[in-house]
Amino acid sequence: MTLAKDDRLENQKAAFSLMMEALSDRAIDTSLFDPTQPPFDGQIVRTTWEELARQGHVEKVGAFQYRLTAKGWRVGLDLTSALRSAEYPQRVGRVLAAMKRHVKGRKDSAIVPLRQLATESGEAEGWIFNLIDSRSSGSRSQKTGATWYESARGRLVEIPADFNLEPGDIVSALTLQHRERVELLEGRLEEAEDERRQLHCPFCDAPVSSIGHQDYPELHCIVTYVSFACGYSTADGFEEAPCPYGPHWPNLDEFELITKRDGKLYVCHAIGKTERARRVHMYPEMGKTREEAEERARRAVAPKRKQASPNS
Ligand SMILES: [Zn+2]
Repeated sequence: MTLAKDDRLENQKAAFSLMMEALSDRAIDTSLFDPTQPPFDGQIVRTTWEELARQGHVEKVGAFQYRLTAKGWRVGLDLTSALRSAEYPQRVGRVLAAMKRHVKGRKDSAIVPLRQLATESGEAEGWIFNLIDSRSSGSRSQKTGATWYESARGRLVEIPADFNLEPGDIVSALTLQHRERVELLEGRLEEAEDERRQLHCPFCDAPVSSIGHQDYPELHCIVTYVSFACGYSTADGFEEAPCPYGPHWPNLDEFELITKRDGKLYVCHAIGKTERARRVHMYPEMGKTREEAEERARRAVAPKRKQASPNS
C-alpha cells in the first residue's frame, strides 16, 4: 500500500504515540514492538516501520520486531508533547539532583550504578536509561553530562566532575519549546487582559452593564454603545458620559440644584448647566429638609476619588 505524504506522516505520528504509550517508563533497548500484534496491527502500515528504521528512529530486532532508538525516543517525547508537560522538567531535575550529589566537591568523575540513581531519584530505571541514552548519543552539544561508563551501557553511569554546569545546559536544551510555550501563554494573558479592559471602565474598573447597537440607516452606520456600572458610557469607543472617577467628570458648579417640596420630603434635582454636565444622568436626591436633600445631591455629583489601597 502506498500512502500520500500527509497520510504517511500521520501514520508515523501514530506509530510514535503507540510506541511511547507501550513503552511507558521502560528502557528503550529491551522494549520490543511487534508490528503484527496489538496495538500496532491494523494501525501502522509496514512501510511506516521501514521508513522509521531508515530515519534511525527505530531499529529492527530479529526478523519481526522493532525497538526505539535514543533518537526515536527524543522524537517520540516531542511528538507526544511529553517534553512540554510540566512533569518532564521536574523528573529531569530529580535525576540531575541525584547525579550532582555524587560529584559534589570532587575533582574527578563518579561512576554510579543506574539502579542506584533510580533509587536515589525515585524515578524509573528505564526512564533514566532513556534519558542518559538519548543525551549521550546525541549531537556533540548534547553530549555533555552523564554518559555510560565504558561498555556498561545501561548499568553504570559516569558523571563528570563538572556536572554542576549541566543543569543550565540541559535546561536550555530542553526548554526551547518551553520558552515558546511561555510566550504563547503570555500572549494569551495579554489577550485576556485586553478583553478584560474592554469589559471594564478604564477609570474605575466598573463592569459593563449593557452593550447595544444602534443603526443609523440614513448615515449608513451602526454605532455600538457600551455602558458601565459607574455611569461611564461610550459610543464606538468615544466617551459619551463621563465616569465619576475619570478626568472629564464635571465640577460641582456645573450643576444647578433645584429643590422642590414633595409632601413631607424635599427632592433635589442636579441639572447640568454645561454640555458635559448635561450628559451625566443623576437621580433626584431626597431629604427631610431642603438642606439634607441638597447636601445629598452635592455629594452625588461630586467627583469620586478611588480609595487609596493600603500598600500604595
Ligand atoms: Zn467608571
